[in-house]
Amino acid sequence: MSGKVYPIPGGLHPAEYKDISNDRPILVAPLSERYVVPLRQHIGEPARLLVKPGYSVLKGQLIGAPEGRISAAVHAPTSGRVIAVEPRPVAHPSGLPDQCVVIEADGQDTAVEMQPIAWRDLIPCELHQRLANMGLAGQGGAVFPSHVKLAPSPIPIETLILNGAECEPWITCDDRLMRERATEILQGAEIMRHALGASRILVGIEDNKPEAAQAMQAACDQLKLGNAEVTVVPTRYPSGGAKQLTQLLTGLETPSGKISTDIGIQVFNVGTAYALYRAVELGEPMLSRIVTITGHVAQPVNIEARLGTPIEELIRLAGGELPEASGHLIGGPMMGFELNDTAAPVVKAVNCVITKNLALFPHHPPAMPCIRCGQCALVCPASLQPFEMYWHAKSKNFDKARAYALLDCIECGCCSHVCPSHIPLVDFYRFAKSEIIAADRASQASEIARQRHEFQLLRQEREKREKAERLGKKATERLDSGAVAADDPEAARKKAILEGAIERARQAKEAARPQNTENLTPEQQQQVDEIEARRTAPPQDTETQA
Ligand code: SF4
Ligand code: SF4
Repeated sequence: MSGKVYPIPGGLHPAEYKDISNDRPILVAPLSERYVVPLRQHIGEPARLLVKPGYSVLKGQLIGAPEGRISAAVHAPTSGRVIAVEPRPVAHPSGLPDQCVVIEADGQDTAVEMQPIAWRDLIPCELHQRLANMGLAGQGGAVFPSHVKLAPSPIPIETLILNGAECEPWITCDDRLMRERATEILQGAEIMRHALGASRILVGIEDNKPEAAQAMQAACDQLKLGNAEVTVVPTRYPSGGAKQLTQLLTGLETPSGKISTDIGIQVFNVGTAYALYRAVELGEPMLSRIVTITGHVAQPVNIEARLGTPIEELIRLAGGELPEASGHLIGGPMMGFELNDTAAPVVKAVNCVITKNLALFPHHPPAMPCIRCGQCALVCPASLQPFEMYWHAKSKNFDKARAYALLDCIECGCCSHVCPSHIPLVDFYRFAKSEIIAADRASQASEIARQRHEFQLLRQEREKREKAERLGKKATERLDSGAVAADDPEAARKKAILEGAIERARQAKEAARPQNTENLTPEQQQQVDEIEARRTAPPQDTETQA
């Protein structure tokens, strides 16, 4: 076991707190009375609603269809009746409610007919089409629709990386999944390899999960997977970032502004591979996921929960909160966010719920001025200069922040974690990024409007010219046909005028081109080039932890 490990910059090793939840087998949650299924559970457009209150549904029935290119389907987690379609509290950093389908379970758990997919008989394009309605989305954090990542890529994918690093403290759902269902995960990986046309599989697992690494290696041997390697990497946050794991396992650095696929590598979380196995081999769309319930609860545990299960039910299954709980985090302490309402349901992105108390999660001290100590730069895994980006984000100098490669920041939180001035640096980066992205969108929209306006002017000019040409030609034909006497000097004069008009129209046609892109200054030309590059660039997967 274990291939070569390459060095990566930055990172740190915060207290793990993994052993309190990783020693018990995965608990399968019993059927709930009610499920709340948000239509938006992934990056991209929310699913298009297909049901109304009063409809009866079966387990696995499509209740929301993917809308647009980056979108994923949602399905009924059990059989029952739709009792409402309305905004409900959801697990989202904004804390805002979102549109959900509320299903009252009938207790029968009757499923639609689920047909396995004979994937070996399908070429990658066909397999991709069959997966589009399975609702698969990345389970490592970014929740990018998986069928999009599995689509044929313009850049050939040579290497598939399975991300089992699980580098965030507290979270152990991937650890338990690898220990208990390694064979299914690797069968999913084999399907991914086929879909991507990749030749090799690399599995990366941190060295604080020896049982998981052994289970994955044993499954690899049992399945006789060719050109597949399980590699144990040092426990160092954020080794599970897609770019970081890529560099750890291959030594290849993903260039600034690019993603792993740009260098022929696709990264998936082990949970996503497991969900793909179920979708293809069992015909089951994504209906559940493993969630770590940990922190200040009686019996921290990993639970296999159906999507739509209220989080408060999972906390009860973990023995309930202990006295003096002070709130809840979704995800880990480094990249997670506060949960406002435990009535919010489990969605595809929810990998961990941490119940807090003040001993484990004391109040954040007030931020002090930056002392330019440089600690943040030392731990940055993207080799950025966090304090410079902070200055420019704080002063709303977004162009400067972008020049310091703000968009390469993976929001890992290492810089905030070590900052002696307790500055919430990542909050400033998120704010600046959202402003930059909004400005880019506005600029794209105005560029499109400018192009449309220019096109409209050109079209009007062309129509005028063509009309003049048609009229001129008609008049000339009348003169040439003898309808007017050839020796008539007045007719000859008119003919000369018409021929002149036709010639002028022809010359105007040759000279016609957009007038507002001439004589540009170098700065203006650079702006035009940047806008053109953005306009033609394909949409990118912003996934940080596949
Ligand atoms: S760690 Fe904090 S105080 Fe030190 S340079 Fe970075 S932002 Fe400034
Ligand atoms: S949050 Fe961004 S700037 Fe801070 S350490 Fe992580 S990648 Fe670097």
